[in-house]
Amino acid sequence: MNNLIDFHCHLDLYPDYESLIDDCEQEGIRTLAVTTTPRAWPRNRDLMVQKKYVKPALGLHPQLIGEDASDELMLWEKYLPEARYIGEVGLDAGSRFYHTLKEQKRVFVRILQCCAEVGGKVLSIHSVRSVNIVLDLLEEFLQAKNNRVVLHWFTGSKTEASRAVEFGCYFSINAEMLRIAKGNALLRQLPIERLLTETDGPFTQYQDRPNEPKDVALVIKLLAELQNTTPENISNKVVSNLKTLLGDIK
Ligand code: MN
Repeated sequence: MNNLIDFHCHLDLYPDYESLIDDCEQEGIRTLAVTTTPRAWPRNRDLMVQKKYVKPALGLHPQLIGEDASDELMLWEKYLPEARYIGEVGLDAGSRFYHTLKEQKRVFVRILQCCAEVGGKVLSIHSVRSVNIVLDLLEEFLQAKNNRVVLHWFTGSKTEASRAVEFGCYFSINAEMLRIAKGNALLRQLPIERLLTETDGPFTQYQDRPNEPKDVALVIKLLAELQNTTPENISNKVVSNLKTLLGDIK
């Protein structure tokens, strides 16, 4: 299938990282290579600087934030002028990470403030059990600042989804979200103009191996079934959504 977009994939966490980049380039799969720490930025940036389809994102993953993330935050700020795409960033209020939520918030607020100051950034945001707080912070710190927000693996309620749509968020959808009935119900409610696709590989599986960017074909197929249309219609729509998202940014 042509025109695939994987807007949230941890390419640098695969053992065959560099050959995966080449595969994406050869097959024309537009891939956002999110990172979990700013320490990974230089290598990702250098490997992708000449690439047409694979783009690096500058991240600081909420699950990796400890008691004090000041050093990582400083490094993140240092690289910010080089990055158009930001991610993975956000909040995780799940039970395993709840104890660092205060520091996660401090970091996320600073990230949003920095993005608001310069503008023109595209953010891929994690919001596990924290959609309302994430939206509160977006509204307070990122409002109308010429940035774009993509909520990755969104698992909020319908009310939270409406609020996110109102704010202007896009949603990157993966196959896991479509496997559960709640995900399907939620997806029917999201405007098709705001949908992108992702794998979140290698954290998600296809049969017995980690998902790779090409596996977004399955997301397209499932979305097509859900919308009662053809995979081609969905993939064209997703491509045009991404163009709109990027074209909106000055
Ligand atoms: Mn991720």
